[in-house]
Amino acid sequence: MTTRMLNEATTSKVTVPALDYDAVVIGAGIAGLYQLIRLRELGMRVRVIEAGTEVGGTWYWNRYPGARFDSESYSYCYSFSKELLQEWNWTEHFAPQPETLRYLQHVADRFDLRRDIQFNTRVLAAHWHEAWRGWELTLADGSRMRARFLITGIGALSVPTLPRLEGLDSFKGESCHTARWPHEPVSFAGKRVAVIGTGATGVQTIQEVAKTAAHLTVFQRTPNWCAPLHNGPITDEEQREIKASYPDIFRRCQETNASFLHSADPRSALEVSDDERETFFEKRYGERGFGIWVGNFRDILTDPRANALISDFVARKIRQRVHDPVLAEKLIPKNHGFGTRRLPLETHYYEVYNQPNVELVDLTETPIERITPEGIQTRTRAFDFDMIIYATGFDALTGAYDHIDMRGVGGQTLKDQWRGGAKTFAGMQVAGFPNLLMVMGPHSVLGNIPRSIEYNVEWVSDLLRHLRDRGLTRVEARPESVLSWMETVRKLSIGLLSNDVDSWATGVNRNLAHKQTRVLSRYSGSAPDFRAHCNAVAANGYRELQLD
Ligand code: NAP
Repeated sequence: MTTRMLNEATTSKVTVPALDYDAVVIGAGIAGLYQLIRLRELGMRVRVIEAGTEVGGTWYWNRYPGARFDSESYSYCYSFSKELLQEWNWTEHFAPQPETLRYLQHVADRFDLRRDIQFNTRVLAAHWHEAWRGWELTLADGSRMRARFLITGIGALSVPTLPRLEGLDSFKGESCHTARWPHEPVSFAGKRVAVIGTGATGVQTIQEVAKTAAHLTVFQRTPNWCAPLHNGPITDEEQREIKASYPDIFRRCQETNASFLHSADPRSALEVSDDERETFFEKRYGERGFGIWVGNFRDILTDPRANALISDFVARKIRQRVHDPVLAEKLIPKNHGFGTRRLPLETHYYEVYNQPNVELVDLTETPIERITPEGIQTRTRAFDFDMIIYATGFDALTGAYDHIDMRGVGGQTLKDQWRGGAKTFAGMQVAGFPNLLMVMGPHSVLGNIPRSIEYNVEWVSDLLRHLRDRGLTRVEARPESVLSWMETVRKLSIGLLSNDVDSWATGVNRNLAHKQTRVLSRYSGSAPDFRAHCNAVAANGYRELQLD
């Protein structure tokens, strides 16, 4: 294939330039690394372009204090290599960021991936050329490269957003977005620190900074429901059990709705007695990981009455854990139910607010007016800080695409096509953008991300094998397939309480002028259904796609 794809060819009208690569992959995170492995197996000549200086993607950029994942380590890792599974020892049930980064570095070394990765390189533009059926990329250093296929592993949460506040650059102390955390160690000892944002990132940051900062002020606009992570070290015996049960672990992840180890209880929260329900909630609250969220009664995320019951339970927990009742009420969400935004898992998060060195500022009462050279000015008070940490989230799902000048057939820009919301086929293809294959693009399945990535990468690789075996060089989603997929996504979103709540998952980011209203930005069906749909597309010869 390599020779056939790279061959220079000439038609009577157009001189087709030589392609530099069969495929360029953007991003050397979990998606890009695995995609590289699969494309090599197909015999393709591949280049991975990575903006960072190392592999790791999310785990390279998000090195803020306390960063770790909320999926069990042994369910989050790659499943494709038995040897890799056996040789890698996770040390904690939920590994911290440095360990996950080391793991991905190990994968890069073990499979000799670095020789095909170009680090420190940002892709500025990607333009489709119909004449020679390929993508031309412009890199930040001005160089260009041409490839038949363009595969994006650029992440759903990879473009950080800062508040739109006057004076942001005037602050004289240290300041940083959590996703752009310095590589050098950062000390909080003796410092007056501000954290803005209380999403999954803010919660992890706050509970860590509070340990050593002289004073921590948390600026909260919307409280989020949080539940205990119950992390702990993996004992030798557990390590042996985990290694012996990897096939079961991954089989289980295949079966559950969101690819986590936890699956919903088939009962309704409304059909059991009060005692039974309370005992069940208590059990889940005391267990590791996302069980309280995705392993709860089947209707807590769909039926407002069931949701009110779990919300009431968790609110009572917060009241028990936070000594000051006024403060406790501020930490209890009032505008959305439990689990209707991505649930941050925590370790002594609520207890942090009992510490004398921690203060909560409720921005609904006293909004921030501006950042000053000394700190933060709210409507009622001027705060002085040594450090301001922005845990203010991401331009989610489409942001990484908007940051590349992507042009498809006829020079149309992806940004224009996606104005008012992305439109994709299975989150992997876009009409008018041939040979662009997105790993985890908008409307792909989310949940336990590496599980979804592995599936996406394998589907894309199978499609490329299909093309190779038939001597085809162009693949594009048919417009009607995109319409049909968007209708599927719309139907699946009905009845899920989370789709009636503002969050990155519904496309809202108050820091971005163009993301003020909800759009159909993600697939909210189950992972098994997503895979069944995509498997059927492949089994039927990719009729939803135009192959040439
Ligand atoms: P996020 O969930 O979007 O939270 C951003 C926070 O910043 C929110 O509390 C938001 O308040 C606040 N904020 C934003 N702009 C603000 C402003 N101008 N003034 C005051 N507050 C402002 O972002 P995230 O916490 O980075 O998490 C994003 C996603 O990444 C998570 O949902 C999760 O999927 C993933 N993540 C995973 C892990 C993990 O696995 N443990 C850890 C971190 C992140 P509003 O709610 O009022 O907008």
